[in-house]
Amino acid sequence: MAVLRNDSAVGFDPLGFAAAHLSPAALAALERLQDALTTRIRPLLTEAWETATMPAAVLDELIPLALMRPQGMDAAEADSSMFAGWRNYVLARTDVSVATVYNAQSGLFRTAVRLGGSPAQAAELDEPIRDFRLRGVFALTEPDHGSDIAGGMATRARRDGGDWIIVGAKRWIGGADTADVIAVFARDEADVVRAFLVPRDAAGVRLTRIEGKASLRPMQNFDIALEGVRVPESARLGRVEGWRDVSRILRAMRSDVAWIATGLQAGALDAAVAYVRERQQFGRPLGGFQLVQEKLARMLANLTSSLGIVTQLSAQQDRDVYADENSALAKLQTALLARETAALAREVLGGNGILLEHAAARFFADAEAVYSYEGTHEINALIVGRALTGSSAFV
Ligand SMILES: Cc1cc2nc3c(=O)[nH]c(=O)nc-3n(C[C@H](O)[C@H](O)[C@H](O)COP(=O)(O)OP(=O)(O)OC[C@H]3O[C@@H](n4cnc5c(N)ncnc54)[C@H](O)[C@@H]3O)c2cc1C
Repeated sequence: MAVLRNDSAVGFDPLGFAAAHLSPAALAALERLQDALTTRIRPLLTEAWETATMPAAVLDELIPLALMRPQGMDAAEADSSMFAGWRNYVLARTDVSVATVYNAQSGLFRTAVRLGGSPAQAAELDEPIRDFRLRGVFALTEPDHGSDIAGGMATRARRDGGDWIIVGAKRWIGGADTADVIAVFARDEADVVRAFLVPRDAAGVRLTRIEGKASLRPMQNFDIALEGVRVPESARLGRVEGWRDVSRILRAMRSDVAWIATGLQAGALDAAVAYVRERQQFGRPLGGFQLVQEKLARMLANLTSSLGIVTQLSAQQDRDVYADENSALAKLQTALLARETAALAREVLGGNGILLEHAAARFFADAEAVYSYEGTHEINALIVGRALTGSSAFV
């Protein structure tokens, strides 16, 4: 009897997406990552969740792996959407907070500088960003403007001689406490959206931790007040000259989240399969019951469908084909399936499914944040709906 295996970094992958899309060097880099996650990071996660803190050891373990330029991989392969995707997938398969913290640097911040910075800024800053000598976060959302940030952005930047003065507020900004700079989006006096690299310790920047989260607890999110913050013109990201450029950045970042939603499903399925192989009821392992197997099969089907979507999206982006509706479709569908897959995993663990030690509980709670961040289900649906009908329901 053939038994599916999940003992490599990519977990259950019956249709062989990883083998079809990754080189031996990329697979080796992911195995090194998996080893660090399994042996040194996973043991920290229950306490991290209970105490709502991200242990410094997590990034201390990940940074030396040079995951943005792994050994044996050239720049083109390491920077590809495909490799970035699998990296997020493997991270999220262990823990979504860890994946989100890493992606705040490798996805959100790095993409903002690579696509939003002038060619000189991108060239100068990319290496320090890759090796975390320059840490940054991405600050777009505001207290009063989430889904409607494109039209509603209230943070303002005004010229003052050679400087800019920024006034406003940002909300939900992940990992801001450990950032050197915050990529802040603001409207100028002509209503043009601009972006600035604001030092976290600049006068007028005030961070307040968002308390009481029931999802992604180890990851820290912040309200950021910007009270007349002065930055020089050289801090402005040169290629953000309107919302169209922010969209270009978001379009590239959304695939990262779809991969995280897919990795979450892989982790949830791992947790469910491990449990039902061990747990006995009615004198037999739970895994032998038909109703349990049906749930596992649905979970694997959800995961495999999601892998099909994200690998094809990344392959398309690596051919330089970017479409808002394709990123939106991928995020929408993988997050929807992640919610169902995580709920099924929690369910087959019974009461133990709400205990952190079995991991399914973490994935279940984390699916809620993934469902809403970087474009909610509804907003992504409206982007797809606009492409299908030619009629915009929200702008
Ligand atoms: C854990 C976490 C981390 C985050 N990290 C960052 C970060 O690092 N940087 C950053 O800038 N932002 C970050 N965000 C913010 C995130 O992108 C926003 O939460 C998201 O865009 C949704 O905005 P909102 O929460 O204000 O919801 P709202 O916009 O208030 O939406 C509430 C509900 O109304 C629905 N809705 C809104 N408009 C419509 C409409 N026209 N039609 C139908 N339904 C609609 C939404 O889909 C949603 O269901 C993070 C959020 C979370 C939860």
